[in-house]
Amino acid sequence: MDFDLSRLEKFVPLSQTFFEAIQKYDENSFMFAVSSPEYRIIKHPSSCLVLGRSGTGKTTCMMFRMIGLDIVAEKYGHPLRQMFVTQSRTLARKVRSYSMQLRQTEANAVGVQSGETLHGLSLMEMDENAEEEGVLPARFSDLEDSHFPLFLTYDQLCRLLEADYELQFNPSALFSPISHGTKTLGSHLRQPLVSFDYFESNIWPHFDERLKKGLHAALVYSEFMGVIKGSEDSLNKSRHYLDRKHYEKRSRAHSGDDTERTRIYSLFEAYHKLRPPASYDVADRVHALIEAMREHGLKGQYVDFLYVDEAQDNLIIDAALLRTLCPNPHRLFFAGDTAQTISVGSAFRFSELKAFMYRLEREDSFVKRGRRKAIDPSFFQLSTNYRSHSGIVNVAAFVVSAHKPVFFSGREERSDFVRLISDSESGNVQLGAHQVIIVRDENAAQRLEAEIGRVAVILTLYESKGMEFDDVLLYDFFTDSAATPADWRAILLAQHDGRVFDERKHSILQSELKSFYVGLTRARERVWIWDRSGNGREMENLLATSLLATTYDINQSVPQLGASSTAKEWAKQARQYFSKSLYGEAAFCFTKAGMNWWASVALAYGDRQVATRLPDKHPRRLSAFSEVAQNFDRLAQASGKSEDPKNALLLFTNAGECFAIISNHLSAAEAFFRGWKFTEAAYHYRMQGMFDEALDVIKTHPIDPEVARSIEYAAKLVFSRKHDVQSLHKAREICESKDEFLEFLQDHGFEEQRIQFLESITEHEEAAAVFWRAKDHVEAISRFLVSTKPSSGAKAAECLLDGLRFNITLGFKRENALPVVSKLLSMDQQLPLDQKQQLEVSLFQAIVHCRADELLAHGRYYINHEKSHSAFLALDAWVYSGALKGLEVEALDQVAALLLVCQQYCNLVQTVIQRPDLLEKPEMQQVFGISWSSNSNADDQDMKPYRQVHPQSFIYAKACDKQPQIDEPVTAPTLSRDVVDDLIRNTLLERRNQVLGAIHFYAHQSRALNPCTRFLVTGSCPSHQTGQCRRGHIQQSVLTIQSFNEVFRLHLLVIALLDQVTAVEDASKTTQTNRSAMQRTWLSRIFDACYPESHKIGNLSDVTPDLIDGYASLIPILKKWLQEVFLSLCLSNDLPFFLSNLLKTSMLATSVDYMDTRRYLLNGKWFADQELASKEGFLQEDGRPIAGAVLTWFNRRTGSRHNLGVYAIRHILGRKLPVDVDVLSSYVEEVCGQLILNHFVHYMSYGYEGLTMPRSWIIRAFMRQSSELSNGRMPYILIPWLRSFLEILIGRLDPGQLRYRGTPLRQSPLPILIVVRVCRCLVMLGVNNRNSRDEVLRAIEPLKQLNSAPDPGLNRLIAAQGWKDVEDAAHLTIASSTLDALVTVTHTTQPSIFPTIPGSRLVFCNNDAELLRGLLMDPHVPLAAPLLHFVQSGFMGQGTPLQSGFSMVPSPQVDEREPAQGAAEIPGQLEGIEYTQQHIKSVRTIQSLFRRHRRRAGGPIAAAFEELVKRGLKLPEGYRPGHFLLLCLRGPLPHVLKYLQKLKDACQETISSLNKSLELSKHEELDALNVKGAEVRRIRDETNKLYKELQPSSELYFKGPETAPPSVAEIVEKVNLVSDLTNRLRWLTELPDDEDYDLGVEPLLSNRVPWRSNKPGMNDTSQPTLDEVHV
Ligand SMILES: [Zn+2]
Repeated sequence: MDFDLSRLEKFVPLSQTFFEAIQKYDENSFMFAVSSPEYRIIKHPSSCLVLGRSGTGKTTCMMFRMIGLDIVAEKYGHPLRQMFVTQSRTLARKVRSYSMQLRQTEANAVGVQSGETLHGLSLMEMDENAEEEGVLPARFSDLEDSHFPLFLTYDQLCRLLEADYELQFNPSALFSPISHGTKTLGSHLRQPLVSFDYFESNIWPHFDERLKKGLHAALVYSEFMGVIKGSEDSLNKSRHYLDRKHYEKRSRAHSGDDTERTRIYSLFEAYHKLRPPASYDVADRVHALIEAMREHGLKGQYVDFLYVDEAQDNLIIDAALLRTLCPNPHRLFFAGDTAQTISVGSAFRFSELKAFMYRLEREDSFVKRGRRKAIDPSFFQLSTNYRSHSGIVNVAAFVVSAHKPVFFSGREERSDFVRLISDSESGNVQLGAHQVIIVRDENAAQRLEAEIGRVAVILTLYESKGMEFDDVLLYDFFTDSAATPADWRAILLAQHDGRVFDERKHSILQSELKSFYVGLTRARERVWIWDRSGNGREMENLLATSLLATTYDINQSVPQLGASSTAKEWAKQARQYFSKSLYGEAAFCFTKAGMNWWASVALAYGDRQVATRLPDKHPRRLSAFSEVAQNFDRLAQASGKSEDPKNALLLFTNAGECFAIISNHLSAAEAFFRGWKFTEAAYHYRMQGMFDEALDVIKTHPIDPEVARSIEYAAKLVFSRKHDVQSLHKAREICESKDEFLEFLQDHGFEEQRIQFLESITEHEEAAAVFWRAKDHVEAISRFLVSTKPSSGAKAAECLLDGLRFNITLGFKRENALPVVSKLLSMDQQLPLDQKQQLEVSLFQAIVHCRADELLAHGRYYINHEKSHSAFLALDAWVYSGALKGLEVEALDQVAALLLVCQQYCNLVQTVIQRPDLLEKPEMQQVFGISWSSNSNADDQDMKPYRQVHPQSFIYAKACDKQPQIDEPVTAPTLSRDVVDDLIRNTLLERRNQVLGAIHFYAHQSRALNPCTRFLVTGSCPSHQTGQCRRGHIQQSVLTIQSFNEVFRLHLLVIALLDQVTAVEDASKTTQTNRSAMQRTWLSRIFDACYPESHKIGNLSDVTPDLIDGYASLIPILKKWLQEVFLSLCLSNDLPFFLSNLLKTSMLATSVDYMDTRRYLLNGKWFADQELASKEGFLQEDGRPIAGAVLTWFNRRTGSRHNLGVYAIRHILGRKLPVDVDVLSSYVEEVCGQLILNHFVHYMSYGYEGLTMPRSWIIRAFMRQSSELSNGRMPYILIPWLRSFLEILIGRLDPGQLRYRGTPLRQSPLPILIVVRVCRCLVMLGVNNRNSRDEVLRAIEPLKQLNSAPDPGLNRLIAAQGWKDVEDAAHLTIASSTLDALVTVTHTTQPSIFPTIPGSRLVFCNNDAELLRGLLMDPHVPLAAPLLHFVQSGFMGQGTPLQSGFSMVPSPQVDEREPAQGAAEIPGQLEGIEYTQQHIKSVRTIQSLFRRHRRRAGGPIAAAFEELVKRGLKLPEGYRPGHFLLLCLRGPLPHVLKYLQKLKDACQETISSLNKSLELSKHEELDALNVKGAEVRRIRDETNKLYKELQPSSELYFKGPETAPPSVAEIVEKVNLVSDLTNRLRWLTELPDDEDYDLGVEPLLSNRVPWRSNKPGMNDTSQPTLDEVHV
């Protein structure tokens, strides 16, 4: 729409009232008459620049134009956004109110008041600093149509825009405390504003005197702002100001003095160094805004029309900013008066503005693209006699053309001057309200006032800016000038004599003429020039000769220029001064007008101005503000009833501000409250710590919500910290709900207060819950007990158990128990426990009181009920209760029961070790005293990476050692899951080893496993009576094949248990030796059981698998042990025990599993050590090891093996090698038995008819089987050696290295039982082979030495005279056994053709099976009974099924910590995607990066991603993840996730430390902490969210064939947020550099990775490559 005002006339006849109203508006010299030039301007259809001195009607033109346009727009129903901008707040306000009245007038035809209100003067309108509320919105973008037409200051406009760009400049000279800390972090409040006042009082004095010599602060400041920082060229400089060269070059065109420019620029540099760091000046502000708008564009709507009044007060660059707001080139209106160039901060020239607008227009994008023509504003001059000028001379000409000043001659006398300024009517020395004396500067003003008194208004040139008076008296202008008479004369000479004017030489005149012009133009009517020196004479001449000035000779008479004015005139003038901030002058005028209160107000303003100008650290500053504040307060209270009440409000506000500056918060609060500034009042009450009052204000008055929130937050904290119920309830009142308050307390760690509060509102159950959460179970239960809620009883019971579980963990030590444990245990009677709970409590009681029986019962119960955690707890306490000592008893069943429980305990340990998932179960965690770290998110399904170890835990001490931070003691160390779980596993293993050690110890002592042979043989044991014999004393009558097998089983059980002794970490070596020692010990024990000295107790032949519970699972362990020990035997290590151990293990192993043993039988290490073997006699004559001969005897395939057996015995006895005689005799028995069987197989034609041996011998002989070859001479070779053996045993021959039961034989008592066994061998050889009987008789001859023996058979042999006696003794050697007996085999029931041995039992058999049956005393097959082929092949593999959960075979353990080697490698070709050379190169870069760091992410995260990858690869084509995605999932992403975890932790830590600070800090600091805390919580929440989005189980990845895989770009986008979050957190806390960040986030965001290289514009070669970043 084209808004053409020329239409206005046609369609909208303006009313006469309207014109009258306009004409009445003479305020501030805006005299208006619609003259034709103005009318032209108003109607001009496009933009204009209007130049004119004040009073020429520029403002009125604009106002009229605005109103007219609005009227047109209303007709069209199209509201306009018109904006009027000026520098002066009073002017803006005045124009606004007048404009509104005009509109009213136009609408209602009501007469117009002038600017005064009904109540008289409005302080608000006069006070340039006062701010009105509710007129403007907070942001430019919030402006709505209803806000227009908008009249505002340039400062207000900037603030609106800044709010949109989150820039914060505090423009007030008064420090603004409220905006501190309540804003968002990251944006920074900049203050103070370096205004000219600030510059002059705080910076100027510090400048180097030499530099500033002869320069005026105002001039320098103007150059800084107007030229260096504020000129058009500064816009294109990166630092937003001209460099020195540019400035000096540029200024040369305008002013002549080179050194001056150089000095000014040096001062400028000093200025930047001297000003406070956060400070800013007007130019900084504009540059910041222009930059923000360039970057983000304008937020909000453009304005339709823009009017800028007093444009000369702006910087040139302001025009650029303003023009952006109104892009329509037809709708701009700039008005100004460049005549007033002395205005500070402006080196503004209208011509420059014009040129600038011209260039801006040509830069317009539409113009540039030729979319429209460039439109330049029309230029109007409202001052008709003004003409443009160039050069000094023309300026002078121009100056005088405007005014005809009066010079005085002969005017040195003070009295003349006094007369001059007196009133001709009254004769008083005084000037009128519209008269003024103008002097050069402040000093001159003070001098003059001292001379003449306070009789007139004296202004400096600078102060007079922008004002006009009827009469002006320029006082000592030339006297105080820096220019010399010669300078002035130069003008005269140039003008009159046509001399060349040297501008450079007289450059001073440039500013001097300007000042002169300003002085002259202040006058509307008359100008007088009173100068006491003659310096002005040249100018006077110049002007006078041009008839441009007159000279008055006061030597004749002195005129009286003074006038008197009415009070009204004075008041009016006072207001003008007031609004120009000339408070002293205002006060003077108010006094003249008789308005004393107002005069005081003006003086108070003046005092404030003085105080404000004091430097910050000035000693008088505080007292000055304090005085001012009190004055404002007093004046406000003294405000008359007739005054506008708003005046008092403003004064109170002023008082409040001044109190605030000196931090007198209480007075500030009260003053603000009285001034209706409630936000400030509340704020300062809060700063005073008066939270009740602050909250009261918030409750009852509208205040800034942000400030209210911050106060409420601080109040909540402060009240909560007070720790008393009343304060807590006050804090509660602030919250919207109880729950919100409880949440607040929880969030800030106020647990005690939370309880206190809950109890105060009788929420005992919730208070209890808080205690419970804090693990204070006793308190929690006591609260539950007080509670009347029906649910409380059950909760109390559950809490009790939770408390017991928490405090009584595995490895509970009574002596370390906290008092809380006994307290908890004493509470059970008061609580309604159900049966299960009672049972559990009794478990804990049993643990605490160490009641073994109860523990055992609990252990069994919980195992049966599959509560492994409770069972574990019970059994662990049981094994450590000393119950294992019970293994020492004699009763087999008791020992068996104990061993079984031990086995169950070990199984539990094994299960925990093997199943990592168990440690994820809360009940198991309680057993071990650990929990998930509170940092870990419980919802996090993928991984819970951290665990907390409580002090009760059995790994606590170790965990504390592993805790990395040592600087602060931690009550519960938090460690990664892997570390904690490893600790638990290792510690459990150690624990189990301890238990097994105890089992080893006690079982070794066990009477049940260790029968007293003496008691067995003789029926009495003297040491038994005295209690010294610790062996088992078993009556012969109770020995059965069952009891024997039970003993055997007990051995197996012990072995199976001890087999679990495990190497734990560093202790591996000792554990290994322990294991080996234990093995040898227990193999010896089981050998002793199988080959006992006494025949009465049962032996290997009685081992019956069917009678042994769990045989099939136990026997492999025995086999393993036998093999391990057998193969470990080594002559050099085991020399004294080598043969014994070799015999023991080989005899047992070949018996237990011949086929298996045969495979390793000859693989021992003894072959290697020839030298030692030879030296020690372990080699046969042919050089072969004797061990080979010993062992080859077992090998059934060796045809002549019986020879080797005999040779072995001969060699051992001949060399008297170190061997235990009991072991050797067992071997001898076996060899003899086999020789006898062999004899029958090869020599006897009647089968086994007549075979006579002890039952056990027959069984074993059949087991060893006969040899292929016949005996030959072997028995005859053996018998003499057996005689030697006897001689050795009874001490007739030197025993050599032979031992008995470990001690050298020569130190042992007579081993009578061995003697019996050797004799038995001889007797059996003779009984079965009649040809050897003579040899046998000879062999037993040495026995005669003994005279008598405790053994009946032996006694008979000692006494034997012939074979018959020997035969009679045969059965006696095996007599009195319930298990063994002498047996004779017969095939028929007919009497044998052979004479029967007396006392032997006949066993009838026609075949092997019958023999077996006949030998048995039991229907079960003995172990050593491979008499039949089917037996041999059948029974070993059978046996009873697995018992009671024994599971000895460990399942293969998967170590997740080591990902498969080469998982990082990317297969060369994947799913047919085409790769460019560049892609492949990028992939290689990444791979080599990870290789170089040798750090692919490990642990569960990487594993989870690897799983994901595997899953992805199985997906059908099209849904399968691509190459780069895979690379991303395997390489950097696990690191990103790990890093996010760390970030989460860092947030949590920061929150905790903030909570701590909150607890301790002063209330003044709370706001900042609150802002920080809120930000950290935001970061934490966003991090959690991001973590969830990126974790392997996230929806983001491929879930199946329905969803396509994500693009890598999507992932990269999310990872971008990681870097943002990191940066944000860095503002708040220190974050160390992180390797996972470098390996995860960096590569993904790097520009050289493959997924980035395709993006246009991103492939910038200047970017660092991946290599450069990481190397
Ligand atoms: Zn005994």
